[in-house]
Amino acid sequence: MDEFKFYRLSGKASFVGVLMGLLFSTLVAIPCSFVYAYAVRYIPIIYVNFLISFGYVFVAALIYKIGEKMGHNRNRMISFVGTVVACTFCLYLAWAAFVAVLSKELNIFWVLIQNPQVLWECIHRLVQSGWFSIGSSKETVSGIFYAVLLVIEALCYFWIFIAIGMLEAEAIYCERCSKWLDSKLLPGSIDIALENDMLRTRDMATMDWLPRLTLVDPFPDNATYIQLHSTACDNCNDLYMLTAKKLQVSKNKEGNLETKESMLFQNLLINKKDTEELLRRLAEAEVNRQKAAEQKLAAEQKLAAEAAAKTPTPPADKA
Ligand SMILES: [Zn+2]
Repeated sequence: MDEFKFYRLSGKASFVGVLMGLLFSTLVAIPCSFVYAYAVRYIPIIYVNFLISFGYVFVAALIYKIGEKMGHNRNRMISFVGTVVACTFCLYLAWAAFVAVLSKELNIFWVLIQNPQVLWECIHRLVQSGWFSIGSSKETVSGIFYAVLLVIEALCYFWIFIAIGMLEAEAIYCERCSKWLDSKLLPGSIDIALENDMLRTRDMATMDWLPRLTLVDPFPDNATYIQLHSTACDNCNDLYMLTAKKLQVSKNKEGNLETKESMLFQNLLINKKDTEELLRRLAEAEVNRQKAAEQKLAAEQKLAAEAAAKTPTPPADKA
């Protein structure tokens, strides 16, 4: 496979991006950590508490990513380090706010922020004494069991933060125009018969299926089909990419439709000419699909009319 025929991030690191991510997520985490702390303190359902705390980290991670992208970081390794540091900050802020809310002394938040050792001692004491119980049990959760819960929660924090906040491998950036690009879905459901051709595209970076492009009605007959996504830089008109995904629609046990997605090829670099040809072929295929659908409908109506004519009509009652 020719690596140069598929888009890859340049890997250029921007420490400004990481710093912006850290700044943004920390600024958002300070007020959010209090919302989190009050909710956890006064909602007596532990499962809800976990959801709230994951919501807190989710928001912080999202904001981190926005900041990092605004700062144009294209290096995933640096992004990984940035998300780990930002998540540590968030965890720290959450604990400081929680201890402050629990002790009903909000001012100590700022003291704890500046004294990690004091915060650590508070957490240590809290784990030993505990402050809540689970379900109908009157016993307070404390000691090793509580510590294990907290470690699991912290690991979940990091997992969520990295999954949401870290720069995705499939992100696309135009180096010439210094901007991030979004991909858009191209209209039309492509016949799954082209699946193997598209897999060949992944290996050979060729698009020999273009003249055979056929569209289908995705429902109800063709529950498996292919969708194309394109990404282009409208600014320089110098960067075009194509991605193909296979979609399998099926009914689950509850009778709801479920869609499974798999990648056939991703971010194939194409030129403007190929892009235009692809759009032309897609439009052509859509016209053909509509024609075929109309012909099918007409044939069905004709058959139904013939069948109706053959059925003898019951004799009318004599008056
Ligand atoms: Zn550009």
